[in-house]
Amino acid sequence: MEELLMKSNDSALSQNNCDFDKGHNLFIFREIPILAGITTVDFGDFSQKADNYQRPQIIAELKMALQADTAIALRHTHNLQIKLIDNFSYREDYDADALILLRSGYSKFNPVIYSATAGSPVVILTDAAQTAIALIYCGWREIYGRLLHAAVVRFCSAAGIDKKSEIIAWIWPGTCKQCFRVWPDSDIKRFMNTDFPHEKGRIDLRRMIVDQLLDANLELPNIRSSSLCAYHSRYGEGFYFFNAYGRTKKTDKNAVFAKFKD
Ligand SMILES: [Zn+2]
Repeated sequence: MEELLMKSNDSALSQNNCDFDKGHNLFIFREIPILAGITTVDFGDFSQKADNYQRPQIIAELKMALQADTAIALRHTHNLQIKLIDNFSYREDYDADALILLRSGYSKFNPVIYSATAGSPVVILTDAAQTAIALIYCGWREIYGRLLHAAVVRFCSAAGIDKKSEIIAWIWPGTCKQCFRVWPDSDIKRFMNTDFPHEKGRIDLRRMIVDQLLDANLELPNIRSSSLCAYHSRYGEGFYFFNAYGRTKKTDKNAVFAKFKD
């Protein structure tokens, strides 16, 4: 791990590479071939508590904003499962921690895939030709379980990509190292000294994500990350951008989304 940490270099990662779309209250990630980004507080709550009344409305708004016909949710369950979306019999919700969507046949239902998050990182994989998209929830359990590494392998085999150097990764980093807090009763404490390097209890999940992507043979210039933080970047333009469960104690969630560009 120490050797891998040495390979990470934040200065090589792009900074502030998000555009704020005031018309839709969305952040759009730049420097990725597909259409991807994250919703804000004003866009709506993507948590499960909002399922019954708000959810149909904000899903409709998300589809309209991105000109998608279908919305498919990654409902992360910490089961480390990776699901390949079948082009012919898709569902609206997948209980998994990673989704892979192939370009071939996608036009049948023109979907946006999304994952709710409030302070946890989400990673998107694609390639310059937009052959496929993967959406991977990366909380500490998924990082500990090396889900990212497994997702890169599955992504390559599903998309028929031979060279991992062709894969582009985009990281929504969630809560940064300075803002990350471990709950007193969290299971993560059992792993902190051995598997999770930390400084006075502060864990850099983004760095661990970069290290796992490099370990899966992605190339550093193809790994991009927002420098926005769900907690300390949460206020701007006169309102709150992001929910940051763990710091704000609110259970509302934003959604990281991804869609093929036409
Ligand atoms: Zn922060």
